Amino acid sequence: MGLDDVVRSHGTIRLPSDALVVLVGPSGSGKSWWARRQFEPAQVVSSDRLRALVGEGAHDQRAGGDAFALLDDIVDRRLRRGLLTVVDSLALDDDRRHNYRQTAGRHGRPCYAIAFDADPATCRARNRDRERPVPAKVLAAQLRSWSRVRDLLGGEGFDRVASPSDVVVVPPALLAAPDEAGRRHRDVGLRFGLHISTFQWPGRPEQTAERLASIARAAEDVGFAGLWVMDHMIQVPQVGREWEDILDSYSTLAYLAAVTRRVRLGTLVTAVTFRNVMHLAKIIATLDVLSGGRAVCGLGAAWFAREHEAYGWPLPPPVERFALLEDALQLLPLCWGPGAPVFDGGVLGRRETICYPRPIQERVPILVGGGGERRTLRLVARYADACNLMGEPGTVRHKVGVLHAHCRDVERDPGAVEITHLSPVLVGRDRGEVDALVDRLRGRATRAATARRLTAGTVDDHVDRFRRLADAGVRTAMVSLADLEDAAAVERFAPVIAAFGPTSTTRA
Ligand code: GDP
Ligand code: MG
Repeated sequence: MGLDDVVRSHGTIRLPSDALVVLVGPSGSGKSWWARRQFEPAQVVSSDRLRALVGEGAHDQRAGGDAFALLDDIVDRRLRRGLLTVVDSLALDDDRRHNYRQTAGRHGRPCYAIAFDADPATCRARNRDRERPVPAKVLAAQLRSWSRVRDLLGGEGFDRVASPSDVVVVPPALLAAPDEAGRRHRDVGLRFGLHISTFQWPGRPEQTAERLASIARAAEDVGFAGLWVMDHMIQVPQVGREWEDILDSYSTLAYLAAVTRRVRLGTLVTAVTFRNVMHLAKIIATLDVLSGGRAVCGLGAAWFAREHEAYGWPLPPPVERFALLEDALQLLPLCWGPGAPVFDGGVLGRRETICYPRPIQERVPILVGGGGERRTLRLVARYADACNLMGEPGTVRHKVGVLHAHCRDVERDPGAVEITHLSPVLVGRDRGEVDALVDRLRGRATRAATARRLTAGTVDDHVDRFRRLADAGVRTAMVSLADLEDAAAVERFAPVIAAFGPTSTTRA
């Protein structure tokens, strides 16, 4: 296979932000020139610069051994951290290219080759213009090597071989080319939920209520099917600092019930350890009644030791928490169902499961959070109406497989369990807006790292990613919008929802 067959980079190169990029080409083919224009200086590891550091100058060939030892070490350490890395050297040596691919593979990073196929006359002319030209015989040997290597590149196992065009760096999760952009995806029936994970907003706390209402109304207007809040007493470290505002979950949902008409309301997810389980049944029944039958019961085994300690609630070991969760999954529907039967569970026993009013919904859907394969997904299969997973389509597909196997074990119809998904999202109309939003949020972190953490991309990027999540089984995608502090952030996400057609509110 020749180079022309494998280079298909028309327009731009979409580069995942954890990739290793190996520039390949003779001296004067434009490698360093291109790298300087496309990358930040710290992302480019140049054999010339390293020779200058450990030898007498960029052209000190005797320092080559030391320079490449450093280069290999730097590449290894950067890839371990998932940092975009560009190797600027000739890379005409087959073993070196092999080693780069191996190093990338060892860290699970994609490895791209950029083929610099300048014609020999251009390379010679550029070489003559240099302050310190490469000897003519050396350049001639490089050009001969290149004519051999250019035909090998395509078959060497690089994830992609591209010619040097403009680069767009994207979070790995958004890599797949948005070739379906513009297409509508009504057929997959994907719904969206808005996850509100912080209340650390401008004008807090005086303006928090009005801001929350305007976010909620905007979410309803653009077609979100549900609003979700966390159930935490202290802001969790994944989101913010411990002194940041985080409202009580169910008081907030009651408020949201009053300012919206259509969306479902729930927690992602209620800590089973926080409340007496019958009290929780009472709270959710009340929410369902006051919202006109829109409550969803998110439930999980809890994990955040600090808030348990602070509020004086025990956080027993996992075995006991899962036993409590299993009891709650059975006790709650009894409370919401007809009559007030006795409940005799593994760790909880109640003489009368009395809760009036009963919810409006005949069955308040129960969503269990977490992807734990042995315990959580087994409980989902046995008792829940929905699960909540995280991660990329490959992970989701795997977890769904595990869940469905558990369903078969307990003779439950796998189709009866809705797959929901939660992920951070930052969306902009175009690359420029995405970069501007990332820059606003990144603090001292790099743009690439922040973009990756927040899954920052264009509308087209996200439509494509959600399409792939839907293909992996997801029916409701909850999104935690990184820039959520007003209705405008909700509206930026609207085109993604629109691409999947009108939503229905019949399920979670
Ligand atoms: P390398 O040996 O492959 O790293 O080649 P360089 O990137 O150092 O390129 C040698 C010189 O060619 C540079 O200093 C630039 O002046 C010039 N050059 C390289 N690529 C281009 C290009 O795409 N356009 C233009 N106009 N000049 C280029
Ligand atoms: Mg160079």
